[in-house]
Amino acid sequence: MKKQLLIIGGGFAGFWSALSAIRQSRELKKENELEVTLVNMDEYLTIRPRLYEVSLEGLRVELNKYFKQLNIKLMIGKAEIINPEQKLVTVATESGSRILNYDYLILSSGSVLKAINIPGIEKTFNVDTFNGAQKLEDHLTKLAHKNFEGNGATTFIVAGSGLTGLEMVTVIKEKANKILTDQGKDSIDFKVVLIEKSDKVGNYYASEAQDYVIETLKAKDITVANGVYLKAVENNGATLSDGHFIASQTVISTIGLVASSLCNFFKGEKDKLGRLHVNEFLQLKEYNNVIAAGDVANIPTDDEGNSSLMACQFSMFLGKFAGHNAVNSLFSEPLKAYSYKDYVTCVDLGQQDGMLTSGWDRKLVASGIEGKNIKMEVTTKLIYPADDVITALEDSYPEVPNVAENAV
Ligand SMILES: Cc1cc2nc3c(=O)[nH]c(=O)nc-3n(C[C@H](O)[C@H](O)[C@H](O)COP(=O)(O)OP(=O)(O)OC[C@H]3O[C@@H](n4cnc5c(N)ncnc54)[C@H](O)[C@@H]3O)c2cc1C
Repeated sequence: MKKQLLIIGGGFAGFWSALSAIRQSRELKKENELEVTLVNMDEYLTIRPRLYEVSLEGLRVELNKYFKQLNIKLMIGKAEIINPEQKLVTVATESGSRILNYDYLILSSGSVLKAINIPGIEKTFNVDTFNGAQKLEDHLTKLAHKNFEGNGATTFIVAGSGLTGLEMVTVIKEKANKILTDQGKDSIDFKVVLIEKSDKVGNYYASEAQDYVIETLKAKDITVANGVYLKAVENNGATLSDGHFIASQTVISTIGLVASSLCNFFKGEKDKLGRLHVNEFLQLKEYNNVIAAGDVANIPTDDEGNSSLMACQFSMFLGKFAGHNAVNSLFSEPLKAYSYKDYVTCVDLGQQDGMLTSGWDRKLVASGIEGKNIKMEVTTKLIYPADDVITALEDSYPEVPNVAENAV
């Protein structure tokens, strides 16, 4: 009977877990004793960091392009129940409910947009998933067909000024105008409003980087509403916490991510984002046959209180360790302790503009076109798996440099 390694989620962490597991099983000459199954809601590794972009082309990589050749079984479905005591996972598939058993589980089901409990939240758009980004694009296309006529049609509201919020506000005009151009129409001078709860945008950056962001928003004519939040959303606009109403037919929420709710099937304390605490080998304290990797995992990265963030530079790397350690654990081989240094952030600030910061205090390293080029190098090249399967397999070693090291 082959040992069953089950991976839930085919994002960055799950994809690299699967490849790393196969590579390591080959290295141990145990590939005939192991079956790797990955459950994902669709057939793709979605390049989530690019979902705010002008075009949605090329933002999904077919999992089976790699999996078929490597004998990784892909099951399309939604894992709904995990029973860690009995080592069973219930998956809803198109052809009904399936129950899978596992010897080892890697949970890599990622994150979702934080829910806010306000009237009309269902009327907001998001770029959290490919479907969400597609819905936004379809909506803009519809508005373009009507020449963006009607109350609030030319105003875009973005709630939340995290990195995705900054990217959204600096790109949305270009996206809408590209749709108009494709329809043979003239560009429009759209209005963009950024809503931020705190007193100042970008307070997670060191001061020079924060100033750069604020100046850029000014230069791009983006209105910033500080110290307020969304109170209610209607078809024709949003009401803010100070009672102010802004007419807009497009309200986009980028208010942050929380861990997949599958984390709740496991005992043990979660962090404030709902993530599972893992040890240096990415294992859960209470279960010796479960690893969490990617946005569902919280792992300390140093002795100064910093821990992994919901970001690709962590997810990809965690995935590589996860697959390696799951296989070694199954075959009683030594595990590798995760280590991570050189945290960077890259943000797109629209045409000809981007910014790279370095370290946990996020100090400015590069901006303008230089920052943009680094951001594009990372998101359009470095976070994609190599095109050929063998190179991708080689890249699945935990030691292979992560995005951050490549980025600077
Ligand atoms: C708009 C946006 C911009 C971002 N920008 C950046 C950036 O610039 N830099 C950066 O480093 N990071 C960025 N991120 C964060 C980054 O995308 C995530 O950290 C990364 O995708 C996490 O990888 P993951 O594998 O843990 O999860 P995900 O990529 O979320 O993948 C999880 C997978 O699991 C599947 N899944 C979930 N639940 C189930 C279930 N119950 N059953 C089966 N399958 C399931 C999902 O469909 C998905 O395929 C951004 C995210 C967003 C949304």
